[in-house]
Amino acid sequence: MTLPRLLLSFVSRHRRAYCLAALMLAAVGVLTVSIPRQVGHIVDALAAHQLPADRLFIALGELALMGIAIYALRVGWRLQLFTASYRLGVELRTRLYRQLTRQDAGFFQQQRTGDLMARATNDIDSVEMAAGEAMLAGFDGLLTLVLVLGMMTLGIDWRLAAAALLPFPLMAYAFNRISNQIHRAWGNALYRFGSMNDHVQETLSGVRTLRALGLEALNDRQMTRLAAAASASSLSAQRWEAAFEPAVGLALVCANVITLSLGGYLVWHGQLTIGALTSFSMYLVQLIWPMYAAGWVLSLLQRGDAAWQRLRPVLDAEPAVADRGRQTDLGPGALAFAGVSFHYPGQDEPALADIQLEIPHGQTIGIVGPTGSGKSTLLRLLLRHYPLAHGRITWHGVSLDDIRLDALRGMIGWVPQEPFLFSASVAANIALVRPEAGRDDVERVARLAAVHDDILRLPQGYDTPVGEKGVALSGGQRQRLAIARALLADAPLLLLDDALSAVDTLTEHQILQHLRDARRGRSVLIVSHRLSAVADADHIVVLGAGRIVEQGCHDALLARDGWYASQWRYQQLEASLDAD
Ligand code: ADP
Repeated sequence: MTLPRLLLSFVSRHRRAYCLAALMLAAVGVLTVSIPRQVGHIVDALAAHQLPADRLFIALGELALMGIAIYALRVGWRLQLFTASYRLGVELRTRLYRQLTRQDAGFFQQQRTGDLMARATNDIDSVEMAAGEAMLAGFDGLLTLVLVLGMMTLGIDWRLAAAALLPFPLMAYAFNRISNQIHRAWGNALYRFGSMNDHVQETLSGVRTLRALGLEALNDRQMTRLAAAASASSLSAQRWEAAFEPAVGLALVCANVITLSLGGYLVWHGQLTIGALTSFSMYLVQLIWPMYAAGWVLSLLQRGDAAWQRLRPVLDAEPAVADRGRQTDLGPGALAFAGVSFHYPGQDEPALADIQLEIPHGQTIGIVGPTGSGKSTLLRLLLRHYPLAHGRITWHGVSLDDIRLDALRGMIGWVPQEPFLFSASVAANIALVRPEAGRDDVERVARLAAVHDDILRLPQGYDTPVGEKGVALSGGQRQRLAIARALLADAPLLLLDDALSAVDTLTEHQILQHLRDARRGRSVLIVSHRLSAVADADHIVVLGAGRIVEQGCHDALLARDGWYASQWRYQQLEASLDAD
């Protein structure tokens, strides 16, 4: 959809507000052009000494009433029009937000957060202004132009009007040239603003890393450069806009010179009254607004169009993971991978190749292997973070594609290595998926995740605010909070993606023991680089370069004397050295 189509469909949906605003604007226009005519009549009557004081006061009173009516109508149309245009902002923001929340991991890999934020704020503001200010100025400017030209030609003298308007076509040409430049400059300015936003967002998210690496000065310089670039392109757009005003002024001066010369001649020869000449000069001044309005509308529309071009791809982006499944309530069941192969977008090497795996319900499965062997990818495919092109993953015999996404994700408790905590209390973070859960339940899962005692040591216990992303907590505490959160969801499948990496071995052992005790028919997939976390699992899968290279129980894998056995010996040796 192009910007004009978007605006048209919006205006037609809110035609009542726009029509009311237009009616009020029209009334303002008529009143505004009546004033110079009224003044002209007063001047002529005064010049002819035919205006006694009482009639003069009445005439002046009428002028004052017109002024008050114009004021009231202007307030009225503003309320009508801007209430409608703000609604467009709300509509677009809601659409953009919904669209962003349904996108998959691949989309966010290609987009930068700061830039998306710029689109949600700055760009939507620009489109909103195209539906508000631009519509207003366009309509009002055009109406004033027609009325003023009508009064000049039909009401006063068409010859004078034709001569006085001679400089205007020249100005129209200048407009056109300048407006093209403004369009280009605004597109550039919005893009640069997005880049600057992105930099600020990344700096704020990674501020601790930047400090630790001593990169503040370098980062500051980059920020200065980006801010300067953003301001330079805004300035360039403003400069072109500034070139606009003098062009209008110049045209007006020329028109005034012509009016006074020709008008004076006509008055001299008795073909025009002084009052009419006065009215004409006042109308020339009223022509300034349509000229400015034209420039302003062009600039707003150019800016709105540049913003819309940036918004459209995001608003139209279809998520690669389609949510077409109908199944919702499958209950506990076996999980099976059949011939699953997967490439990340744009990657040549497969992250997973020909995975065959059957996980009976209620079992604990360990997934291990060197870094980059595809362990996390396996879990991401289960969560449908990426579309699966080859092979099938089934739950209870039903392909994951046939299960509604929210139902699928509701069946899975997922704990990533670096969990996200929201800026809320510890209890609220645990109860995220079940906000109605009571404190007893929250404490029960916190005990299972071996984090209860840590929480009690916090200043306000369960009510301690954890700050954005949980900066007030250690990595291990964050991981355990996330495990408690997943346990509270009570999903039939629990995925731990190296979720105990920042926890000491003893606590890890304790948590796994609790999980076994509280399993209650839940399947658990544990991805871990530490083999002690999977040693007690029912079945262990060893991945290497995206393929299953070994599998079996702990003892069987030790007997096989492959990667698992050597890694186990190495980690045992490391642990005993640490203990010494
Ligand atoms: P593991 O969890 O075993 O360390 P991953 O499943 O994270 O391994 O990664 C498997 C392979 O896929 C690696 O080669 C990694 O570089 C690649 N990979 C992981 N995530 C992405 C991604 N988002 N985009 C492209 N390649 C990726």
